[in-house]
Amino acid sequence: MCCERDLARHIDEAKKDGDKGALLYLDLDDFKHINDGLGHQYGDVLLKAISHSLQNIDGIKTTCYRMGGDEFVILVPPESYQRFNLILEEIKEIFNKPWFLKDADYYCTMSMGVVNFPEDGDSVQNLIKKADIAMYEAKKSGKNRVAYYSDKINSSSNKRLDMEKNMRDATVDGYKEFEVYYQPIIDIQRKGLPCTGAEALIRWNSNELGFISPTDFIPLAEYLGLINPIGNYVLREACKACKNWNDNGYPDYKVNVNLSVVQLLQPDIVDIVKSTIEETGILPKNLTLEVTESLAINDMERMKEILGNIRKLGVRIALDDFGTGYSSLNHIREIPLDVIKVDQSFVIDLAEDNYSQSFIKMISELAGSIGVSICVEGIETKEQYKVLEGMKVQLIQGYYFDRPMKRDAFEEKYAEKLVEKLVDISR
Ligand code: C2E
Ligand code: CA
Ligand code: CA
Repeated sequence: MCCERDLARHIDEAKKDGDKGALLYLDLDDFKHINDGLGHQYGDVLLKAISHSLQNIDGIKTTCYRMGGDEFVILVPPESYQRFNLILEEIKEIFNKPWFLKDADYYCTMSMGVVNFPEDGDSVQNLIKKADIAMYEAKKSGKNRVAYYSDKINSSSNKRLDMEKNMRDATVDGYKEFEVYYQPIIDIQRKGLPCTGAEALIRWNSNELGFISPTDFIPLAEYLGLINPIGNYVLREACKACKNWNDNGYPDYKVNVNLSVVQLLQPDIVDIVKSTIEETGILPKNLTLEVTESLAINDMERMKEILGNIRKLGVRIALDDFGTGYSSLNHIREIPLDVIKVDQSFVIDLAEDNYSQSFIKMISELAGSIGVSICVEGIETKEQYKVLEGMKVQLIQGYYFDRPMKRDAFEEKYAEKLVEKLVDISR
């Protein structure tokens, strides 16, 4: 209420005096991970520390507001506007250093949207809405950045609202618009039976919006918390499918399911995995959960505990997209692991590039020495395949063999006419 009252007053002033002010909408990135990972009391400590730092900045000392959750609004009134750039720098500065929480240093970045008044709008609601839209644009383009409002952003944000609404509807509607596809995982060291199972990959074919790729909707699903029910759906479907293969002539086929960090940090994730195994009857050793390294891995102890408990069920763990983002060789040592999946980016230039080759060789030797297998993803050409065949690499996945396909198609090809296919691949 204070924010609205002050903003209304400053808009009036600015209009009267021909001045300019700005409204900043700030939202913490992945705050949920800190809250879920460390507990709300530490989330509260962080929110207070951030509030305190914001209020120390000259020019906005009395014009910072918490809108709820991890969202803050900062008003740069006309009398401070000449400091605008400095203020922005000082805000960014706050998020460049780690916060000491519980017993370790945590980084928390933020995304921010900026609107100017009166030029971008002269009503309180309108300005806050536009600043929020710009903030979401900053999130969408990769977080940890600042975006300025423009009318172009506005139209793309309407798409986001559409997507949000449709996604909510799709989850209450029995997940009918979602479908799980399967991409075979091939063992190139094994003659005879090279398909070892598949990775389950979700597809969303929305009635309203058409086909939407997982890279486009999963970040929003994570943001909205909808990844939990959607992820549980994928897990259940994939386990059912695998159980079916296992019972019908392919007892060793395994299925890999991607697990978002948001899912991993749910307090009941181990129970969910356990009850899905029981309900579907899949042998735990035939289920592999793929996780990525992420900011949450800051809390190594907790991560190790959760993954350790999942592994106690007999389920295997794969470290996905290795070599990108927060990857660290230490993680290979510390995290309870069964498979390392080398990111596609190392494959693109595999046939020409020494670095990529050496990287894969190094990871596979390291993996071999600690009894972890390695799977290389994104093989598209014969040349890439040949290079890997020469190395210790065992598992391979990529368009060179097959794209992700509907369950029927996978079964037709890999669970019935398997033998014919094998002759093909070994040629
Ligand atoms: P990912 O886990 O790294 O999955 C591999 C992606 O690479 C898939 O994209 C797959 O179709 C694609 N791919 C496989 N072989 C090749 C190839 O030879 N060349 C190229 N260029 N691409 C290849 P997709 O299905 O679009 O999924 C994208 C990402 O979305 C996945 O990356 C994963 O992070 C996420 N995702 C998909 N399904 C789920 C899910 O059920 N739950 C969660 N949490 N994330 C999922
Ligand atoms: Ca994956
Ligand atoms: Ca991957």
